[in-house]
Amino acid sequence: MSATLRKKCPQCGKKNLQEDKFCTQCRFEFKEYSPGDLVIIEHLKGDLYGSIVCLTVFIAFMILITVAIPSQYGIQGIIPMFIIWPIVILFMVWATRYLRGLSKIRKFIITEEYIEITVPHKPYFRVNWSEFDAIEVLKRDHQTWAVLPGKVIIGPRFIYFKLIFKGINFIQSYEFESGKDFKRKSRKEILIALDEFAQRKNKDYHGPTKK
Ligand SMILES: [Zn+2]
Repeated sequence: MSATLRKKCPQCGKKNLQEDKFCTQCRFEFKEYSPGDLVIIEHLKGDLYGSIVCLTVFIAFMILITVAIPSQYGIQGIIPMFIIWPIVILFMVWATRYLRGLSKIRKFIITEEYIEITVPHKPYFRVNWSEFDAIEVLKRDHQTWAVLPGKVIIGPRFIYFKLIFKGINFIQSYEFESGKDFKRKSRKEILIALDEFAQRKNKDYHGPTKK
């Protein structure tokens, strides 16, 4: 009996038998990879819990002012609620969709044959090493800001990496957001692995400009 050896499903956490091809709970497909392959399978669980805490605090605050404002300003105090609450509800609809995205699995796989990328809400991506001759990585960032009278407020900065796979009569590209589509730590691993694989496979690799 070899039933004592179990493997944990990266998608739902259920322990499955070593020989199972699919997770018995969520149907996640277990694939065999070689030891040299880059296999990143992750959720953004930390971000998910952080976001849920922020959302809960926000909703508690909204409920509090909904109760507090009319008690302070009487019937006129209720009127702004007809504007505020629809906005809050729209925000919550967006937030639940965003949170659902965070809880979904994302994959970045590099094997000797192919590169495969799966990110929630984005089309599945796959290229074979035989299809292209060069990889170019472009880094792009987007600094958010707002102008208030007398001052500029700097918001969060979003960083994107675009992978371009080029061959004769072939071009495919994929852009992912660092910290959202993949963790920052994983992004570093991905770029290092792409560089190493490219060298071994005699492909050109042009990394993002380093400072
Ligand atoms: Zn599962």
